[in-house]
Amino acid sequence: MIPKETSVFLQTYGCQMNVADSRTVESILLDAGFRSVGNPDVAEVILVNTCAVRESAEERALGQLASLSRLKTQDGNRIIGVLGCIPQEMKDELVRRLPFLDLVVGLDEYRQLPYLIEERLAAAPGQPAHVAAKLNRRELYDDVAPHHSGGITAFVTITRGCDKFCSFCVVPYVRGRERSRPLVSIIADVEQLVTKGAREVMLLGQNVDAYQWDGKSFADCLEAVAAIEGLQRVRFLTSHPQDIHLRIFEVMRDNPKVCPYLHLPIQSGSNRILAVMNRGYPRERYLEIIESAREIVPDLALSTDIIVGFPSETEGEFDETLDLVRRVRFDSAFMFKYSARPHTKAACMPDNVPETEKIRRLEALISLQKRISRERNLAQLGRVDSVLIEGVAPKSSSQWFGRTPDFRPVVFSQNGEMPGQVVRVKLGELSGFTFRGHPA
Ligand code: SAH
Ligand code: SF4
Repeated sequence: MIPKETSVFLQTYGCQMNVADSRTVESILLDAGFRSVGNPDVAEVILVNTCAVRESAEERALGQLASLSRLKTQDGNRIIGVLGCIPQEMKDELVRRLPFLDLVVGLDEYRQLPYLIEERLAAAPGQPAHVAAKLNRRELYDDVAPHHSGGITAFVTITRGCDKFCSFCVVPYVRGRERSRPLVSIIADVEQLVTKGAREVMLLGQNVDAYQWDGKSFADCLEAVAAIEGLQRVRFLTSHPQDIHLRIFEVMRDNPKVCPYLHLPIQSGSNRILAVMNRGYPRERYLEIIESAREIVPDLALSTDIIVGFPSETEGEFDETLDLVRRVRFDSAFMFKYSARPHTKAACMPDNVPETEKIRRLEALISLQKRISRERNLAQLGRVDSVLIEGVAPKSSSQWFGRTPDFRPVVFSQNGEMPGQVVRVKLGELSGFTFRGHPA
């Protein structure tokens, strides 16, 4: 028996998939009678959902975990557990490095959490960590509605895992095989979120374009979700150039609820590097997709992911990445220095671009992209667009914060509106990357 209303603090690192997984974990725990708290100092159970995709993200999560040893020393009965990608990647090392841990629980074992915590609460302090980190290709958490605490935007996972095995990426090893959730359960989740106040939903998967269920494709899924009454907007993340289908853009064009925004990682502008990365497309194919997409949806906003300093990347090959960025003119980009990840193919290649050179390339790329992002934003000034109000602006309690359909952040003065409402706003001055809106 779980002591009544045992308090849990859950901290999340990493991508939106991890955030969505944390909502699933919360749902499992709250259903089992736990109570969620916002401060680790007062929690009887502390869980950290971790990310292993890049070395820096992993180090951050491990640093946070190490700092929790203080809370364990204060109260030996407190349970500390690690969830997410790190348990899959290095369970034994984790237990060796952080001997105070109670639980190490992998991505497909969250249903067990209430029992594992219960067992641990009943055990004498000082036991070695309980490790449960088997992958299960059938686990979709399909019957667990993600917990929603009333926000305007919500995440819904539509595919789990990944089968692409890009040579730099640890995801297929930690998140397991690619599988799609039944469309009926996705619809049920979104409907339930709408009744709880959500107005925008972000459909998530490592590669949403691979979605496949009972003859339904990702474009079918988008259409079906957009048809849900009460929902204002549908977004999705992440697309893959190998699997993306132009019908997605037709659905976007024909359905105003599907936001004109595409996150399509390119990773490199060099065909040789793309081949060694095992990405499955040359740069010409990528450019072709962008051209067709922009023909169908002219006001499409675009973002991407790029890695610099991949093993053996030459200066000339990095220049090809800069050239591609200049050609496409992304609205924004997530740019990373390559770091070797365990289990991956690239980890067997010599990591031979010196650190100083990786930093130089990253800085050059960021500065180019910043200039392009700013130019693309400046081109929007004066435009009138719909903004979905997400809540109070972080820096001023008399202003609202919201986004345009193409994901541009806007703040504007409150005038009797409510979160969840869509208002017409004229995009005025820019402060950093955020627009100041004016009544239209
Ligand atoms: N499914 C998405 C990416 C998920 S990981 C896709 O196919 O693009 C998020 C991003 O992290 C990747 O797009 C990549 O740019 C970056 N990344 C992944 N592994 C990395 C590594 N070993 N070093 C640096 N960046 C990495
Ligand atoms: Fe990783 Fe490639 Fe899968 Fe994206 S598509 S999660 S980069 S293996």
